[in-house]
Amino acid sequence: MDDLRALYEDVILDHNRDPRNYNRKPDGVNREAHGYNPLCGDEVQVYLRVNDGTVEDASFAGRGCAICTASASMMTEAVGGQDEATVRNLFGHVHAMLTDDEPPPGDDVDLGSLEALEGVKGFPMRIKCASLAWHTLKSALNGSDKDVTTE
Ligand code: ZN
Repeated sequence: MDDLRALYEDVILDHNRDPRNYNRKPDGVNREAHGYNPLCGDEVQVYLRVNDGTVEDASFAGRGCAICTASASMMTEAVGGQDEATVRNLFGHVHAMLTDDEPPPGDDVDLGSLEALEGVKGFPMRIKCASLAWHTLKSALNGSDKDVTTE
């Protein structure tokens, strides 16, 4: 757990200091969604350009705490250029990691640096901060125009 915590802190600090794909709206955005976490006040807007079943570009805007910002930053890096099925699978695995739910059936995925997010489980109040961007991503993919609010 010490290693995980150190990795978690490094990754969160790095992505919070220098968020990737932040405050940039890709050309040709055709899916977007808004998410809000009232527990912490985090707010994110996720932008996607999806063509032929591929998430060609992903970015985000908004204002959140370090964990929310870092998670959104990592998410946009992880899903950009992936096909939709891969993105949904990734969502399932990240969600399972954060909530201790069963991961989706099928092949295991290599979460790479996203595994650092598991460190948030040491701080249960912050799990919604980490999951907000991912729920907002899923809503954008689904073409839902309802705002996402974590409970
Ligand atoms: Zn937060």
